[in-house]
Amino acid sequence: MQVIDFHLHVGTKRHWTEWVVDFFREVNPTYYERFSEGITPEGLIAYLREQGVGRAVVLSEYAPRATGVVPNEFTASFCKGHEELIPFGSICLYEDTPVAEQAERAVKVLGVRGFKMLPTYAHFYPNDPSLYPFYEVAQSLEVPVMFHTGTSIFKGSRVKYGDPLLLDDVAEDFPRLKIIMEHGGRPFWYDRAAWLITRHRNLYIGIAGIPAKVLLQWFPNLERYPDRFLFGSDWPGVPDIKSLIERVLALPLAEETKERILWRNAAELLGL
Ligand SMILES: [Zn+2]
Repeated sequence: MQVIDFHLHVGTKRHWTEWVVDFFREVNPTYYERFSEGITPEGLIAYLREQGVGRAVVLSEYAPRATGVVPNEFTASFCKGHEELIPFGSICLYEDTPVAEQAERAVKVLGVRGFKMLPTYAHFYPNDPSLYPFYEVAQSLEVPVMFHTGTSIFKGSRVKYGDPLLLDDVAEDFPRLKIIMEHGGRPFWYDRAAWLITRHRNLYIGIAGIPAKVLLQWFPNLERYPDRFLFGSDWPGVPDIKSLIERVLALPLAEETKERILWRNAAELLGL
């Protein structure tokens, strides 16, 4: 089965804070040895192919207080000319350029196909009205916005900003904006994320970082909403993408649902 990994971090030691690089060294020695000094699109694509991944969403991040900075420009140029790699931008809250302008530039000039926002790392509430001009742009340009929801182990993060319920406002106010609750509010807000997809048609759950064995326990409505779940690995924070795929394939779900989770929903969302 073809697989789209909706959650990949691409960067080197230059991009991430020391404790993040230490964490990668510990959990993913292959990444550390093979890619932490330098990473090329060709090298990454070859690695992804070994893991059974055909395409991957590559995420930018602006989180200097927690994990580091991977600028939109880096992600966009890394992915350029490689249809296997789909660049997602982010909005930097530490610069003077208005958020709407940043978003327009990222899509129209750099060619990003969506955005990833990190409320817990960058310390903001996703329903803050100051972000609404950004959501306006994303909605009108028809690009999805992914939010990290739930907890994080990294120093400098503030968990209160990760409550998926904060996205109820955004989903309501921007009904055509596709919003992904990455990590499904793990671990103590799973029920909120599960409920929110029943209320808003424009909300999705990214399963990166949620062990497959508890997926159906926390999201008993998965089979009823098969069009709302997206596979992602969170590599290099997770070392072995292949076994994550195998665990999804082993779930007691309809074949069509597995197909939806592993690539079809992503393809639709990204207009592939
Ligand atoms: Zn991640």
